Amino acid sequence: MSQIRLQQLRKVFGKVVAVRDLSLEIADGEFIVFLGPSGCGKTTTLRCIAGLEQVDTGRVFIGDRDVTLRPPGQRGIAMVFQSYAVFPHMSVFENIAFGLRLRREPAGEISARVTAAAELMQIENLLDRFPSQLSGGQRQRVAVARAIVMRPEVLLMDEPLSNLDALLRLQMRAELRRLHREIRSTTVYVTHDQVEALSLGDRIAVMKDGEIVQCDTPARVYDSPATRFVGSFIGSPPMNFIEGTLQRFDGTLAVVAESVRIPLPPTLRPHTGAGPVVVGIRPEHIAVGGEAAADAIPATIIVVEPIGPQQLLTIQVGKTLLKASVPAESSIAEGQAVWLRFEPSRIRLMDAGSGVALSDTGSDVRGPGSARA
Ligand code: ATP
Repeated sequence: MSQIRLQQLRKVFGKVVAVRDLSLEIADGEFIVFLGPSGCGKTTTLRCIAGLEQVDTGRVFIGDRDVTLRPPGQRGIAMVFQSYAVFPHMSVFENIAFGLRLRREPAGEISARVTAAAELMQIENLLDRFPSQLSGGQRQRVAVARAIVMRPEVLLMDEPLSNLDALLRLQMRAELRRLHREIRSTTVYVTHDQVEALSLGDRIAVMKDGEIVQCDTPARVYDSPATRFVGSFIGSPPMNFIEGTLQRFDGTLAVVAESVRIPLPPTLRPHTGAGPVVVGIRPEHIAVGGEAAADAIPATIIVVEPIGPQQLLTIQVGKTLLKASVPAESSIAEGQAVWLRFEPSRIRLMDAGSGVALSDTGSDVRGPGSARA
């Protein structure tokens, strides 16, 4: 079993708290992504799991073993870094074989395992080449092959695709998914690219200021962000936010914002009855057009941007600008007055001060792992 348990990890560099009492449980065979802005502590947390960084306090468990004080070589891990770190003077075969030779594995075993790893990464025809004769994507595949040939219990990857161009990233992303399905190593993957996180992770741990703000499935992180920060970090364009006041009208709840009333569905049960709140709604959950009605919001189209199958609209509601996406064939013009409707089941409410979700998202703000740890 190679589950990972992080218990109250803390790592401080001078005055900077890089990792702030972080707890998380990662299941055996799970693919978990650490996602967050630059400097939020993703790499430091990964390096603490690897043993490349000594924690100030807290414990790291891999499987049933407390590895907190063990060196990287005794943790059963393999790492792939952003810089491919392949040896330029060695052939692809020797690069992949490097770790096995260090372990003094028999030659026949090395040959069989290198060939199998190369086939998995589809570079078996490149084994005689040197890194200078490879493309960036091929070099990165060598780096991944070198990690998986060790059959690690745990595979740690730090922004492995960020040096590749957009098309190669897309290809490698799909390959990493396939690879994980085949080898099932418990995988921790660091990125600041939310699309990569959404497409790769069984769960995403969204980090900010050394802490996990939300740890959940990609669908739940996207649909039910635990905080305003998560809603704004994930999604392109991000979630829209309108500040207003929660009020009760004839037994039903509504938010009054920008002198319009946004009715809330009865299923939305905020943990508070009244007061300043923020309404969150994704661009694809705003219906644009239609008739004037009690639940419709008057607005003006400011900009129409065609983006392939869709048009991205910038819409003014009072002083607030919103983004909505509508099909490319919708006939909407800049300057047009329209009525908006927010899909009721998609409305999210957040506390105006803390930004924490007020309606029940069903997910622990600090992640399911933290709750158990
Ligand atoms: P990025 O996406 O830019 O790589 P990150 O989320 O991985 O960022 P970390 O590299 O973990 O962030 O850094 C977290 C904080 O710790 C940052 O403020 C960083 O400057 C600081 N830090 C990291 N390593 C060191 C170090 N060796 N010495 C001093 N400060 C460090």
